[in-house]
Amino acid sequence: MGGRGMAYITRNDMRQGFPFNYDDEVENDPETEIKTSVFEKLKKLHISTRSSTDEMDDMVLEQQSNIVYDIAKKYNKILKYGTKTTEMMFQKKERVRGIAAVTPFIKDNELALRLYMNNDYFKNTDYNSKDDFSKVIERNIDSGWFAPINKINTRKYILTHEMGHVIESNIIWKIAKDKNIQWRGNSFMGEQSFEIATKIKNEVIKIWKEKYTNKSKDDIIEISNYSKAHYRNYPDHRPFEWFAETFANLQLADEPAPIAKALDEYIRGYM
Ligand SMILES: [Zn+2]
Repeated sequence: MGGRGMAYITRNDMRQGFPFNYDDEVENDPETEIKTSVFEKLKKLHISTRSSTDEMDDMVLEQQSNIVYDIAKKYNKILKYGTKTTEMMFQKKERVRGIAAVTPFIKDNELALRLYMNNDYFKNTDYNSKDDFSKVIERNIDSGWFAPINKINTRKYILTHEMGHVIESNIIWKIAKDKNIQWRGNSFMGEQSFEIATKIKNEVIKIWKEKYTNKSKDDIIEISNYSKAHYRNYPDHRPFEWFAETFANLQLADEPAPIAKALDEYIRGYM
């Protein structure tokens, strides 16, 4: 089961992406036996919580799970397009080199997704530490590496960005299905999804130009440096990161950017 992660959020101003190698061991991460109300709610939306998350701080896990839930609920119709399986799991630093990742792949002819959170960041809730999750995000927002948001939402940034990948993956899946596009092997990543993601971006830009742009020089398509950063090193990541970053601005800013409003209109077309 090949696969490359599409979604990397990394510490500091990292100017490159990392190829993500699919790890067969994740197959052996069974569903958690812990039952909390948020896990139960997530399950109804076909998002399962794996036992690797048992290592996480309960409060952090609950907080992050609620972010996933709120977005999954809001975009429930879109999630139904593809994913019969979304697995929420927790991996150690060696496996996920950024803070979090979404890996889409094809399982039994359906889109499946894994949503990883990195142990080493999510477990640290000490705000006095430079590795504190909130501080890491804040630094990235302040530098323009991440999209502008209301800082009250700092702790929601990563999972909201990752859910952007989840939403887009499902839209890509629907577009491919409607057009009878045949995937090559089990890999969801590659030319086909890249082409569709590029078309999605162009459609949103079209809506932005027609309806939302205020035509000032500050009104830009690239919401953050991260959204365009993969252009140089990993061109195949660029439209995906653009979507996720714009999605984060849409969800978490008090006044989303015009391009994010155009994205909102685009997404609503699938609801
Ligand atoms: Zn990403």
